[in-house]
Amino acid sequence: MTETIPDAAPDLDFDLKVLPKVSLHDHLDGGLRPATIIELAEAAGHTLPSTDPVALGEWFRESADSGSLVRYLETFDHTIAVMQTKEGLFRVAKEFVEDLADDGVVYGEVRWAPEQHLQKGLSLDEVVEAVQAGLEAGVDAVAETGRDIQVGQLITAMRHADRGQEIAELAVRHRNNGAVGFDIAGAEDGFLPSRFKDAFTYLAQHNFPATVHAGEAAGLDSIQSALVDGRALRLGHGVRIAEDVTIEFEDDEDADAQGDEVNDTIGMVTLGELASWVRDRGIALEICPSSNLQTGAIAGFGEGIESHPLDMLYQLGFNVTINTDNRLMSGVTLTDEFELLVETFDYDLDDLLELTLNAAEAAFLPLEEKEALVEYINEAYADLG
Ligand SMILES: [Zn+2]
Repeated sequence: MTETIPDAAPDLDFDLKVLPKVSLHDHLDGGLRPATIIELAEAAGHTLPSTDPVALGEWFRESADSGSLVRYLETFDHTIAVMQTKEGLFRVAKEFVEDLADDGVVYGEVRWAPEQHLQKGLSLDEVVEAVQAGLEAGVDAVAETGRDIQVGQLITAMRHADRGQEIAELAVRHRNNGAVGFDIAGAEDGFLPSRFKDAFTYLAQHNFPATVHAGEAAGLDSIQSALVDGRALRLGHGVRIAEDVTIEFEDDEDADAQGDEVNDTIGMVTLGELASWVRDRGIALEICPSSNLQTGAIAGFGEGIESHPLDMLYQLGFNVTINTDNRLMSGVTLTDEFELLVETFDYDLDDLLELTLNAAEAAFLPLEEKEALVEYINEAYADLG
């Protein structure tokens, strides 16, 4: 991306790739390089919709653009099919880290569901170890180019399956070897976090943090269950918390009296109890703008990215972070998502810094490491300003 940003943000007239970024919501099985999928599929005897890297990349984006979360999730059949061996998992994890670093990410949490990678006989522990080895090789490869990146695994359970307890125990078992948090993912509607209540209790008893996909394909009930049953410290997307925010608009009467154009101005903002809890307690929202548009998560708020409630939530003081979700399916990088916000909402460098610091402070890191990350980001932005 070398195109310049519109006049609205003259201080951002440079490649946003150089900004240090924090990525909290990025799926390992949604961030493969098309060329890698093709090579691994050939070795695995798996048939793909195309064996041309460009055409395959387009196929993923078009399928994801259908507006249906179910079809969006179907694209993962192909990526998961090539991630069933130690070699496949290692390579995908290593390249994932290298691609994050190329995007300016300095700290990334990589989420994936080990239970989906057992088709060729590997155990849960073996797949976690293979991914960890790949992530560490990626960090080393990045270091060789003179840059730094830190990554951690978010061990995910599939919400339609019944392995929550087993996966929670797996995550805790690997807490000193790369696992930094727990998540549940997959079809949200109809599969409340309360299904995994015991697993979440186990995690809480072991003081192991959880983020929970909620408020994407389902609404406030799902978010409530994520917070109460899941004890979620962050919400995966969480965007539909905006359904618990009421804004009354009123006419600007002074402008009307002077014959000026009448603009609706915000009158009163009312937060429901759930929205108050999420905002006032600083529960981080892992917002993924392009993905939310593609899956229809924000369809209830209007058409187009300009209808995304992230700006309203951000202005109201919610703890908004910006993420990619699935870079392959959405055809985006975190840099692209930042550019989208600059173009859509006129965000400037201060906004991008605030959103990045929100993510750094919500990272599942020890305090000292979080403080070091915040300091690094602040210094890098100060050098740019
Ligand atoms: Zn996700």
